[in-house]
Amino acid sequence: MSHHQAFPEPGHDHNSCITNALANAEAHCRKKKARLTSQRRRILEIIWQSHKPVGAYEILEILNTANSRKAAPMTIYRALDFLMEHGLVHRLASQNAYLGCNHPNVAHNSFFLICSKCGRAGEMENDSIDEAIRIGALQNGFKVENQLVEVEGLCPACGPGQ
Ligand SMILES: [Zn+2]
Ligand SMILES: [Zn+2]
Ligand SMILES: [Zn+2]
Repeated sequence: MSHHQAFPEPGHDHNSCITNALANAEAHCRKKKARLTSQRRRILEIIWQSHKPVGAYEILEILNTANSRKAAPMTIYRALDFLMEHGLVHRLASQNAYLGCNHPNVAHNSFFLICSKCGRAGEMENDSIDEAIRIGALQNGFKVENQLVEVEGLCPACGPGQ
């Protein structure tokens, strides 16, 4: 994973975030021979509309405002399963919402910093956290299947310095 800042400046060129994410997703799916249908692509684009995690019903609402043919919630959940399976989005359990991931090609255990003020979330990696979880689980005879670490707080734009 490349070391982009977890929380880009509020005034950054977000269109390039979207363009990069969609281009990465297309290249990744082409390589994996997975079908990034126009609807799956559109859902990914909706998730990337900002750096805030987006809930399934919000996605459905946005999708259905633009479409005359209304999508059913099941369609969204299937598309989200596909996107998660291919590492294109992560589900944030504490938010019950989805965040786009821009490095689907690399297996990674991330932890997430979630801003309780603006709602943005940043993805980070840290080997010591992985190691602490691995050792703690091992000492308790616990087998880790899914590592979810979510931290709430204030992002640099919302923090006390602002
Ligand atoms: Zn951005
Ligand atoms: Zn990721
Ligand atoms: Zn914030």
